[in-house]
Amino acid sequence: MLLLIPGPVTTDARVKAAMAQDYAPWDNDFRETYRQVCDGVLRVAQASSDTHAALALPGCGHFAVEAAIRTFVPTGGRLLAPSTGAYAARLQKLAGDAGRVAVPLPVGATERVDPQAVAAALERDPTLTHLALVYSETGSGICHDVPELARIAHALGRRVIVDAVSAFGALPLDLSLLPAVDAVVLTANKCLEGLPGAAFVVARRDALDAARGNAGSWSLDLADIYQHTLAPNAGPRFTPPAPTIAALAVALELYHQEGREARLARYTANMRTLYDGVSELGLTPYLPRDLQGPIVVNVHAPDSPNWHLQLFVDALKARGYVLSNFFNTEQPTFRVGCIGAFGADQMRLAVDAMGGALRDIGITREGAGAARFFPQPLIA
Ligand SMILES: *Cc1c(COP(=O)(O)O)cnc(C)c1O
Repeated sequence: MLLLIPGPVTTDARVKAAMAQDYAPWDNDFRETYRQVCDGVLRVAQASSDTHAALALPGCGHFAVEAAIRTFVPTGGRLLAPSTGAYAARLQKLAGDAGRVAVPLPVGATERVDPQAVAAALERDPTLTHLALVYSETGSGICHDVPELARIAHALGRRVIVDAVSAFGALPLDLSLLPAVDAVVLTANKCLEGLPGAAFVVARRDALDAARGNAGSWSLDLADIYQHTLAPNAGPRFTPPAPTIAALAVALELYHQEGREARLARYTANMRTLYDGVSELGLTPYLPRDLQGPIVVNVHAPDSPNWHLQLFVDALKARGYVLSNFFNTEQPTFRVGCIGAFGADQMRLAVDAMGGALRDIGITREGAGAARFFPQPLIA
C-alpha cells in the first residue's frame, strides 16, 4: 500500500524496522539517539548549535505550532498571520484560543503571499511584534517565499515563526541567514520520511532565554524544554515517542545520504508526473503550473454525477493507493501527496490506478465523451 497523503508518508522499510523493539527513554543508549536526532534536525535547518537548539515535543505538528506561539508571543501579543489557506486558519485559531491575537492578512486562495502587503501591514501596525507563516500551505499546495518574507520582517524589526511542517527537509531553509526567525516547526512524518508522533521546533537560544514564563502551559513551554536540555547528559523531559525517535534517527541517515536538493528534485518529479498524468486523464489540477508546489497537488473533482470522493478513495485503495478522503479547498477537489519514500515510476503507476479507479466508479472519458465528464477548469 502506498500512502499518497501529504503526511504521514510512506516510509523506507529500514525506518519502519527501527520501531520493532522496545526502548527505555532515559537509558543512556537512547539518550544518545535522542541527541543525535536533535543534532540531525538542526543540521537540516542549517542552524549552528551555538545560536539554535532543536527541541522535541511528543505529538502532532499542531501541538508544536501552539507551543511556538505560546512560547515566543506573550499572552495578549499580536502576530500577523497571512491567510494562505486551511493550515494558516488552524494557526490563527490555536493562537486565538491560546490568548494571542492573530491578525489575518488576506491572501487569495491561488496566490502567493505578497511581500509588499506584509511590509505594509507591519509598518501600519507597530503592535504586531511577530509574523507567522506557513511555508508550504498544505490546503492549497502553494509554497510561499519564507526566506524573503523573513528578511522583510527582519528589516522592520519583527520576529518570525514558521510552520514548516510540510516543507522542512525539502524546501530551502538556511537559518544561519535568517536571524529574525525565532522558531521553525516540523514533524518527523513529512519530508523527513519518518513516522508520526514526534514534533520539533528549531529555535534561537537567545529567544528561548528571553521567553521564560510566557507559555502559560508547562506541557507546551519550549523555554522549559530548552532549560531541561542544558543539564549535563540531558535526555527527554517527559516520555518521548521513543520508537518514532529511533526510526527518525534512521530516516535522517537516509536523508543525509540523499541530500536536500535530491529529495526536492524527487518530490518535484513526483508532482510533475502526477500533474501531467491527471491532466492526461482529463482532470484539472487546482493550481496553475507556476503556482504548484512540490508537496501536495489538489485536483478538481470531475463534474460527473457519479463522482463521490469516498467511493473514489475506496476504489483506489483496492488498487493499492491511499488518498485523503477530505479536502481543504473551497471547491471540491481530491488531494495527492507527492512526498514519501517513492519516486516518479511509482507515481506513474498511481496515476494509472487513478484512471482505473475512475472507471470503477463509472467515470470514463470514452462513450459520451470527455467534455461531459471532464469539463474545463472550474477556476479561471
Ligand atoms: C501536517 C501539517 C501540520 C501538522 O499537522 P498535524 O496533524 O498536527 O501533525 C501543520 N502545518 C502544516 C502546513 C502541515 O502540512
